[in-house]
Amino acid sequence: MNKTEKIVSLYDKYVMKTYSRFPLCIEKAKGAKLWDIDGKTYIDFFPGWAVSGIGHCHPRVVAAINKQSKKLLHVSNNYYSELQALLAEEIIKNSYPGKVFFANSGAEANEASVKLARKYGHDKGRYEVITMTKSFHGRTLAMITATGQDKVKLGFEPLPSGFVHVPFNDIEAVKEAVTDKTAAIMLEPIQCEGGINIASLEYMRALRALCDEKDIALVLDEVQTGMGRSGRMFAYQNYGIEPDMMTLAKAIGGGLPIGVCVARGKFADVLTPGTHASTFGGSPIVCAAALAVFEAIKKEKLIQNATKMGAYMKKKLEELKKKYRFIKEIRSVALIIGVELSIKGDDIYKECLNAGLLINCTQGSILRIMPPLNVTKAEIDKAVSILDKVFSRK
Ligand SMILES: *Cc1c(COP(=O)(O)O)cnc(C)c1O
Repeated sequence: MNKTEKIVSLYDKYVMKTYSRFPLCIEKAKGAKLWDIDGKTYIDFFPGWAVSGIGHCHPRVVAAINKQSKKLLHVSNNYYSELQALLAEEIIKNSYPGKVFFANSGAEANEASVKLARKYGHDKGRYEVITMTKSFHGRTLAMITATGQDKVKLGFEPLPSGFVHVPFNDIEAVKEAVTDKTAAIMLEPIQCEGGINIASLEYMRALRALCDEKDIALVLDEVQTGMGRSGRMFAYQNYGIEPDMMTLAKAIGGGLPIGVCVARGKFADVLTPGTHASTFGGSPIVCAAALAVFEAIKKEKLIQNATKMGAYMKKKLEELKKKYRFIKEIRSVALIIGVELSIKGDDIYKECLNAGLLINCTQGSILRIMPPLNVTKAEIDKAVSILDKVFSRK
């Protein structure tokens, strides 16, 4: 039995089987490189579902965590914390005038935005939230209800009421679904889990206009698309509009758990003392890490690199598309990359893993590739050559 097999047997005994896990036990990682517990190396083009967006164990993040760990790890949210204030300021400076609420995960950030929208609409009897089919918003009861995919809901009924789904990128469907009870429209600007479906410019602008006209909150779930991955700090910035709320998690913590709801203008002061809270939300250690993520993105010009490397990877993948007719379409925005296949993607994902490349497969046949923002050409070349080799056996 090697070390990995030993760990797997402990999981079998003691950890709930809520994930389908590949027998890979990672011991350490740096940038896009991983080492497993038995010494094998991999390149990671799907770092922790985009959590390690600026690469694993980024030196600035590690240094910030080390420094803060000697001073203060956690403080009650009934007091003030300098780093929480500075992080809030940094987020607002990079997005739009407003205020933030700190939580610990994407689902919680989305919950906060739905609670906020309901509170805002409450006096007018508005509580309904319109979301999109194929969306993904997290795993709490309200968020599996918000998520427009049946597979996450089955077996958990009765679900909370007040959520309605419409097809993505279809403005008429949204208009039809709006009633005098609609409090919010919530969507991902790019549906990642849903298969890299990109909202069109017209759609996003029409949604903004609709929400303005009807005083409905436009909520953008940027848990996966945020923090530079789309070629802008936040994906909505590709559309020339601003949401009323945006939610962040995953990459903003540099590997530590964080969730943020960023509310604009008239939504910024809706939640008052006693209406919402999170014990761990915005702890100093997490805020130190998140501030280091912003610093790294700026000082190391990682957004520019994401745009450049995204274009390079797309070009390389288009070359593979000419070679393999089972590649149907490549959809990408900077380093958010989807490769839609006409064959099943699960085997390809597994074979890539065996060959030393971590990617993801979603919706059965769409390869999801999200390299860290500081990825190099050499790493892309290596990854594409592994994909090429795996494809050539199909
Ligand atoms: C991952 C994800 C979530 C859920 O985040 P958790 O931290 O797992 O709760 C929500 N929305 C989107 C778009 C995500 O990618």
